[in-house]
Amino acid sequence: MQHSASNQELIEAARSLIVARYKPDFHHIGCALRARSGRMFRAVHVEAYVGRLTVCAEAIAIGMAAAEGEADIETIVALDRDGNIVAPCGMCRELIADYSNNASVLLANGAVVPVLELLPHKYERQQEVDCQQKADQWGDNEMDFLTPEQRSDAVAEILATLALRVINRNKAASQNPEDQNDQPGCPT
Ligand SMILES: [Zn+2]
Repeated sequence: MQHSASNQELIEAARSLIVARYKPDFHHIGCALRARSGRMFRAVHVEAYVGRLTVCAEAIAIGMAAAEGEADIETIVALDRDGNIVAPCGMCRELIADYSNNASVLLANGAVVPVLELLPHKYERQQEVDCQQKADQWGDNEMDFLTPEQRSDAVAEILATLALRVINRNKAASQNPEDQNDQPGCPT
């Protein structure tokens, strides 16, 4: 089965990008996503010599879209340079669904799959964060958006951090006599 013409366009955009940017051990996969607005964003995956630093093309494409305020994903696809569609890895399924839980993922043989079908039992955000509301609250008081219980936990954590710094500083001062003239205990 063939993908639709508009999805074929997305596939070709990802394929042509990885063909152009392919570099062994650096870029093997290209991704293209279409935002709800219709805008398209493309990226290659970024491989690293230290393997765990590698970042998938999907993540970078989502970041590029988010930078333009377009992180509402309608459809996303990734391909290798031979034109094979590559299914998103588990982390990318989480990421795509986290940004757009109604996004569609293009797979081989014309399959168009809702991302949540690829990710049963996804972790859900506990609540939608209203960024503007949060920014407004931070403007008044950095802790206003916390419950009283969370606030006291945050204060306790700050105090514990400061206490640790005082202890470490006093310990360092007692081990280095030339530092005795410093004011031990000042948590700066
Ligand atoms: Zn991935």
